[in-house]
Amino acid sequence: MSHFKALFDTYNWDFTLQSIFNKTAVEVKQALVKDKLDLEDFKALISPAAKPFLEEMAYKSQVLTKKRFGNTMQMYAPMYLSNECQNICTYCGFSLTNKIPRRTLTDTEILEEVAFLKNKGYDHILLVTGEANQKVGVDYINNAIRLIRSHFANITIEVQPLDQNEYELLVENGLYAVLVYQETYHRDEYKKHHPKGKKSNFDYRLDTPDRLGKAGVHKIGLGALFGLEDWRADSFFTALHLKYLQKTYWKTKYSISFPRLRPHSGGLDPKVEMTDADLVQLICAFRLLDEDVELSMSTRESEIFRNNIVNLGITSISAESKTNPGGYSVEPQSLEQFEISDERSTEKVVEMLKTRGLEVVWKDWEHFSN
Ligand code: SF4
Repeated sequence: MSHFKALFDTYNWDFTLQSIFNKTAVEVKQALVKDKLDLEDFKALISPAAKPFLEEMAYKSQVLTKKRFGNTMQMYAPMYLSNECQNICTYCGFSLTNKIPRRTLTDTEILEEVAFLKNKGYDHILLVTGEANQKVGVDYINNAIRLIRSHFANITIEVQPLDQNEYELLVENGLYAVLVYQETYHRDEYKKHHPKGKKSNFDYRLDTPDRLGKAGVHKIGLGALFGLEDWRADSFFTALHLKYLQKTYWKTKYSISFPRLRPHSGGLDPKVEMTDADLVQLICAFRLLDEDVELSMSTRESEIFRNNIVNLGITSISAESKTNPGGYSVEPQSLEQFEISDERSTEKVVEMLKTRGLEVVWKDWEHFSN
């Protein structure tokens, strides 16, 4: 039985980080002329030595994205179903110790939110919950998927990591994709930020994409939360994870997201700053490493940043997002998980994409089985 953990355990964080910082301009240039990049090339492209080559990277990233995806941008919207959570995560407004009113949407409320998003044109939906086994366990999620499946072509979830048989059940009932971010691949830092709850089990989380691959989930989304630890090392381990999964579960599609720490109720300042230029460099590096992987951008980022990044490698984007349960129409004032940055309406974002020569795609996948 294959597990990423076995591969991951052969790496040392400090050594990996040092090897990224040791990359030279010559190695960056070598990576830039290659057709097929390996993980050492990826290290070079995310290294400080690649900074002077950012324009070249951006150009190549743009060309590769256009070649594989055309001038398209997939639209999706998150829908928060519950802010109940049994975990303590230092960076999150839903953390157990935050004294906020807790809310879990009923079937009627879910359908009210659905109506709002459908009216905006969304066909790809991302269901989000905190991690509370009793209130929003697999039964609740399964019910929500069954309830909304006829309304959306594509249902993705970002909920607590589940067991393989639970994922299999959800796939049977209409689940398309699962996003599970490791937050940080630094074991000790991970422990500091997840002191209590099921999420404090680093290995169970690390093993989740393997369970997803085995369960036959159509798409797996990976990522790290930038700000918790050094973004370069975390990105390298995300890329290592991606490459391992692609080789092991080759029928599955993959996506990468790039969340940076955002303010929330309780507040945590980033330990390691990731500048806008760093984020552009990383997005381009992922595109150069992999022509096929979907690269996703949320409303965590600012209007200006998003306007500029949409032509450089990103293939899916959200707009007008609410990060609180019922945030669209049921209860707009309930407490959000984190503050979004780009607050433009869906229509405004669509307009911006069109002026940048992009064709907006609402649906690129359909569930044909039963
Ligand atoms: S990040 Fe997720 S698991 Fe952690 S407190 Fe927030 S909702 Fe709960």
